[in-house]
Amino acid sequence: MTALLEIDNLHVAYGKIKAVKGISLTVHTGQIVTLVGTNGAGKTTTLRTISGLLTPHSGTIHFDGQPLTHTPAHRIVARGLAHSPEGRHIFPRLTIAENLHLGAFLRKDTDGITHDIHRVYELFPVLGERSTQKAGTLSGGEQQMLAMGRALMSRPKLLMLDEPSMGLSPIMMQKITATITELKATGTTILLVEQNARAALALADHGHVMETGRIVLSGTGTDLLHDESVRKAYLGED
Ligand code: ATP
Repeated sequence: MTALLEIDNLHVAYGKIKAVKGISLTVHTGQIVTLVGTNGAGKTTTLRTISGLLTPHSGTIHFDGQPLTHTPAHRIVARGLAHSPEGRHIFPRLTIAENLHLGAFLRKDTDGITHDIHRVYELFPVLGERSTQKAGTLSGGEQQMLAMGRALMSRPKLLMLDEPSMGLSPIMMQKITATITELKATGTTILLVEQNARAALALADHGHVMETGRIVLSGTGTDLLHDESVRKAYLGED
C-alpha cells in the first residue's frame, strides 16, 4: 500500500491554546480513514492544517511523497487534496451549478469539468434537478451534498470531509454514507472527520480516536467499533 498522506508529530496552536498536541497518522491510497472524538478534540484543526489554512507549530505533513507544510492552500488543492469543510460554506447567492464550477477553478479541461458535473448530479440527483437555483434555497442536507460535490470537482486524490453528517436526518445520513462508499469504490481516498463515531467507524478501514489534541486509540474501523472503551465513551453504550 502506498502512503498518500503522512502526518508526523503535528502540533498546532491558536495563540496559547494548544489544539493539536503531537498527532501522527497515515492514510494509504484507496482507504477511508476516520478521525473521531468529542467536541474540541482537535479534529477540525487537523484538517484545516492539512489544507494549509493553519500553519503548524511543528511536525511534518507529506502528501503523495512531497512535504505539504508551508505550501499555500491553493497549491495544495492543485496537488490533489480537497476539503469539504464543517458547516458547508457554500455560496448561497450563486446557483448550484456555479458553486460546482468554483470547485473546478484550477482546471482548464472544459469537457472533463462538464463530465464531472454530471457525475455529481448522478451522485446527488437533487443538485441536477435544481442546478439553476440559488444554493441558499437548498436544505441543510442538500447544502452538505453540494459542499461534497464541489470538493469532488477538483478531482482530488484525497477528499477530506469534515462532519458530513452534521445536522442531517437519518435518511440524508444514509445517502451521504452510501456516497462515501461509492466514492471509495471509484478510487477516491477519504479522510473523514465525524462526531458520529458509529457511522464513521462502520465505513472506515482505519480509525483514530482523538481526545484533547491527542490520538488516544487507533485500529481498524471494526476493531474500534467493538472496543469496550470506545463503545462506552463514543457509542453511548454501557
Ligand atoms: P468540533 O467537532 O466541535 O469542531 P474538533 O475536534 O473539530 O471539535 P477543533 O475545532 O479542532 O475540535 O478545536 C480544538 C480546540 O481548539 C478546541 O479547544 C477549540 O476551542 C480550539 N479552537 C478551535 N478554533 C479556534 C480558534 N479559531 N481560536 C482559538 N481556539 C480555537
